[in-house]
Amino acid sequence: MAQQRVQQSAATFRQGRTGVHGVMIMKSTPRETSRRCCVDPVQNWPMPQSPLTATVKPLTGPQKALRKLGLVRPIDLALHLPLRYEDETRLVKLRDVREGDVAQVEGRVTHAEVKLGGHRQLLVTLDDGSGTCLLRFFTFYPSQQKALTVGNQIRVRGEVRGGFAGLTMMHPVVKAAGGELATALTPVYPTVAGLPQTYLRRAVQAGLARAELSDTVPSQFLQEIGLHPSWSLRQALSFLHNPAPDVSLETLQEHSHPAWQRLKAEEFLAQQLSQLQSRRARARLRAPMLAEAGSPGVFERLLAALPFQLTVAQQRVVAEIARDIGRPVPMHRLLQGDVGAGKTVVAALAAAQCIDAGWQCALMAPTEILATQHFAKLVSWLQPLGMTVAWLTGSQKARERRDMLALIASGQAALVVGTHALIQDKVQFQRLALAIIDEQHRFGVAQRLALRGKLGSQQLEPHLLMMTATPIPRTLAMSYYADLDVSTIDELPPGRTPIVTKVVHDARRDEVIARIGAQLAQGRQIYWVCPLIEESEALDLTNATETHAQLSAALPGVMVGLLHSRMPVAEKKAVMSLFVGGQLGVLVSTTVIEVGVDVPNASLMVIEHAERFGLSQLHQLRGRVGRGAAASACVLLYATGDAPRLGETARERLKAMAQSNDGFEIARRDLEIRGPGEFMGARQSGDAMLRFADVVEDAQLLDWARRLAPVLLDQHPALAEQHVQRWLGSKSDYLKA
Ligand code: ADP
Ligand code: MG
Repeated sequence: MAQQRVQQSAATFRQGRTGVHGVMIMKSTPRETSRRCCVDPVQNWPMPQSPLTATVKPLTGPQKALRKLGLVRPIDLALHLPLRYEDETRLVKLRDVREGDVAQVEGRVTHAEVKLGGHRQLLVTLDDGSGTCLLRFFTFYPSQQKALTVGNQIRVRGEVRGGFAGLTMMHPVVKAAGGELATALTPVYPTVAGLPQTYLRRAVQAGLARAELSDTVPSQFLQEIGLHPSWSLRQALSFLHNPAPDVSLETLQEHSHPAWQRLKAEEFLAQQLSQLQSRRARARLRAPMLAEAGSPGVFERLLAALPFQLTVAQQRVVAEIARDIGRPVPMHRLLQGDVGAGKTVVAALAAAQCIDAGWQCALMAPTEILATQHFAKLVSWLQPLGMTVAWLTGSQKARERRDMLALIASGQAALVVGTHALIQDKVQFQRLALAIIDEQHRFGVAQRLALRGKLGSQQLEPHLLMMTATPIPRTLAMSYYADLDVSTIDELPPGRTPIVTKVVHDARRDEVIARIGAQLAQGRQIYWVCPLIEESEALDLTNATETHAQLSAALPGVMVGLLHSRMPVAEKKAVMSLFVGGQLGVLVSTTVIEVGVDVPNASLMVIEHAERFGLSQLHQLRGRVGRGAAASACVLLYATGDAPRLGETARERLKAMAQSNDGFEIARRDLEIRGPGEFMGARQSGDAMLRFADVVEDAQLLDWARRLAPVLLDQHPALAEQHVQRWLGSKSDYLKA
């Protein structure tokens, strides 16, 4: 990757050499880096002003871009650290340059031509007396072309590549030869379009000068991580923004330099402090005590009525939850368990305990189909025991909805199952004590907070149980989810046969279809998953509709159903119930079936364009089969487009899927391959992400921060608060949800 001209988008950037995870990469022209800006960022800095002196000036483009990056306060700018550095302090000879170096060279243009045909490009040969280098430009302006005429002396800087034509630079930065050399390494900051490096550099320097940077970490604690007290925050920041020319670029780039260590330790500490604060704040709140009833209640009767025995893991997590909700402090617990591990019954037992104590329980699911399934299952379990289960979704008829709202408000409905409709203003619970959120990662922070706020007039908070089939690797649990208690179902119910996963090129599609025929002949059902229709239009992927037509034609006499996200809800439900009922042999679908659907007779899952899916997503999809006793299989069809082979990462990922059936192992690999940003999706947006520290590589610093956070909070509460404000400012609320 031409590191040289890479800019990273604001929301997703991660710094350092692992910065390739989940970043948007935009090429900028060399012009952009050398453009001088005419607005002085220091003077026009949008500082909060007193109402008397405030003059409303519209923000300039770069100022808006700074806002977009969240660079509002001087301290935000001071903490906006370089992605990397450019060494403009010296010139090198081409003879000494190696492939991959970013080099600055001066020499004479000995050849220049515009090549037409294929890609129009400007090819320039540079000779510095020790060797030659080919400069390649795909976009160029007449003025640039003029600067590159034969005989001109020029200075170029760029990444050097080897190859057929010898040393090559793509789009180097070009200047006239003989200018002054820089005296310090030049920092390159993460930025967005419309915010030139030069402007950003000046803004950062101004922020650094203004920010309040007194130390919040007492020096004795720094020694524990081998940091000399001279690496104060101020010192570390000045150093990283203005490193001396003789510093090893490598320790800077690798983030192993003490200044980087200091910053990473600080960042972890802010994260841990903030989560500890929210944990402690929660501990001061009161919740209804859902103590077990004296006489055998719904809980015991449900347990006795289940057609199976709970696994040991299920028993354990049921006990953990029972203990939590029996206490007068709101529970904040994540229940994780692989797909098919049996989380629903655990939720039902928690609900039963809540109902036994005389309170209401709500269960919220991310999709209508999933909510329907939960509803059906819970009704079948709880209705025979005399419980009323209410049902609330967006697509409901007005009349039904009114009835349901009345049941909920009167307290007659002991359990309410639904979608987002549950958190609308109109919904009033009589006495809600337990909120359960299935597939919690599908919901945003605000939605979870809204459900928690549904308790009504009483001065109490409901207990919160979040469920997820995407297990959180330990390192993430310790960092991003430190404010949660975690229960884990780490075994599957007995009698499941492992799913065999095959990775197959799309060219062998016909064989796969033949195999479907064989499965159908044995009375089995098949899922065929396609990427989203919306995406497929843009990316020219085979879409679900085409596949549906193809399978219908290839499998005469078989009912092939189609389910996609654009269908009206009623139609979706109808198709789904035909599949559940066994009338449909094949269900072609977009990822709407991703979560929760339970059809034990389905034994084959085909995933088309598997290379487009995330690992955890593939694992969840695959989890739709292997739910009965029959041997099940998953076929990952991949396409390579015009390329002869799949890319390295895509191959790795599909291989990982074929090798493991263990959700934890897959989550770990997923984290390795994609980094936490993508892994966690929405937790919660980029805001809560670590920018510099890496939960895996800097595990030792994370450990330190975990130990230090309670000490600092107890012994130096003012410093702790200052630290959190400095690092997280207004974002800290997000961490608390
Ligand atoms: P998930 O954890 O993915 O939500 P479900 O709760 O949908 O899994 O459970 C998957 C299937 O396993 C369901 O059909 C459920 O009834 C069944 N199940 C759950 N617990 C057990 C158990 N202990 N023994 C046998 N089957 C179980
Ligand atoms: Mg489930």
